[in-house]
Amino acid sequence: MPTETVYGLAADAANPRAVAAVYAAKGRPSFNPLIAHVADLAMARRIAGFEARAEALAARFWPGPLTLVLPASDDMAVCDLARAGLDTVAVRAPAHPLAHALIAAFGGPVVAPSANRSGRPSPTTLADAMDETGAAAAAVLDGGPCAIGLESTVVSLLDTPRLLRPGAVTRAEIEAVVGPLSEAEADAKRSPGRLTRHYAPNLPVRLNVTEPRDDEVWVGFGPRWPGAFNLSPRGDLAEAAANLFSFLRAADRSQAKGIAVAPVPGEGLGEAINDRLRRAAGFVG
Ligand code: AMP
Ligand code: MG
Repeated sequence: MPTETVYGLAADAANPRAVAAVYAAKGRPSFNPLIAHVADLAMARRIAGFEARAEALAARFWPGPLTLVLPASDDMAVCDLARAGLDTVAVRAPAHPLAHALIAAFGGPVVAPSANRSGRPSPTTLADAMDETGAAAAAVLDGGPCAIGLESTVVSLLDTPRLLRPGAVTRAEIEAVVGPLSEAEADAKRSPGRLTRHYAPNLPVRLNVTEPRDDEVWVGFGPRWPGAFNLSPRGDLAEAAANLFSFLRAADRSQAKGIAVAPVPGEGLGEAINDRLRRAAGFVG
């Protein structure tokens, strides 16, 4: 199914066999839990404990590209396998009308991890999703290209609010609602999905390149660093985010020996873009 962030591989969150099929289709390590996608706050309250800060963030950003990690309620509405055995659950209400309609019609939460094979760039079109995991899908919904193109921001509210994954909602936007985010290193148990190499094309990726080598394809940004694939000729971060994964895929299909990416500013949405680029290049963010 399309969402405003990327295409997801959707399955009944309560059904361990359906969830196992999603892990298998992605080749995803099963210690990496999945996000439960809900139609609205009422459905979210059935699966997770909401306190004041969670209510405030949901009121401000839902439906939309924000995932909240909360204590799981114990009725197994999101099965153990989907939560990778944790007593917490990641919840998001997507804004895309097709995703919303699907979840509302189904009547319960669905897991919907990005429809790529584990470690690969997320698909932002149905064609890319079909290339990655289409064989596993019983049915597909075409919503056209994804408007945002980057995964949701993941915020843990288990103690001091903590940014587990930078994403479409910026750090500053979150802090405007809940105050300063904890700077403590997110421990591996709490954000199990933060693999080093992730979102990665097949070709090696070099970052912050202003002079590409002859055998590299150059992914540019802005008027200063045009590149063969310019993420945003006018230097707009939202446009660059929307183009990022499809351009990395296109660069990957070229005859080049590597992908050289121009510098992308780090503020605002640039934090999430640079996080994905560092992982595509194989560095821990
Ligand atoms: P994806 O499904 O590819 O969008 O990735 C989901 C992200 O949410 C991964 O980084 C997971 O590790 C993270 N996540 C999901 N559930 C939890 C949880 N209960 N606690 C912490 N992180 C989670
Ligand atoms: Mg993913």
